[in-house]
Amino acid sequence: MKLVLATSNKGKVREIQALCSEYEVIPYGELIKEFEIVEDGDTFKENALIKARAVFKALKDDKVIVIADDSGISVDALDGNPGIYSARYGGVDADDKENLNKLMKDIKETGVSSSPAHYTAAIAIVTKNSEQSVHGWMYGTALTEARGDSGFGYDPMFVPLDYDKTLGELDAGVKKKLSHRSKALDLALKIIKTIK
Ligand code: IMP
Repeated sequence: MKLVLATSNKGKVREIQALCSEYEVIPYGELIKEFEIVEDGDTFKENALIKARAVFKALKDDKVIVIADDSGISVDALDGNPGIYSARYGGVDADDKENLNKLMKDIKETGVSSSPAHYTAAIAIVTKNSEQSVHGWMYGTALTEARGDSGFGYDPMFVPLDYDKTLGELDAGVKKKLSHRSKALDLALKIIKTIK
């Protein structure tokens, strides 16, 4: 069965393809021209649904299953920020590195060198007849220094609970077992299996 992914984020595409190896997972940009999707929801769930709906509509193919991931990191020392604004934390055009540097700087400015934090992933599954969503979380510590270059986004500054290395230093297989995205995808795959 073909799953179309409503994202152009290469890190997400790589991880979702690895976690859904029994399916053909195609980023929507390989089927149609990528377009801007305004993510103006107030929650991860709303934004995931906005992306999945927009891509489903644009594909004009009733048979397709579209999945979208909206995700981010929430830092306790910053009252849960950046949360749903994780992709744009360093500014609208900021890249992963600029976002990471801003987050480490802002945590440092609160007077701490690390803080409890967690990642959230909402995955929306949209078909002709249904719209569903699931969530997954990964808890750990956000550091004010970046270590390693595995993963993407904020991974070099995030140490998962019960580990002493960042996701930037740990093998991709560790993240595959632990991550917010893999937990949400486990649930999403259960739903996808029921779609005829
Ligand atoms: P979205 O495309 O609006 O869902 O943005 C998600 C943003 O959250 C990404 O650009 C990353 O900055 C961050 N993020 C989400 N998941 C991860 C992850 O697994 N590792 C590192 N950063 C992540």
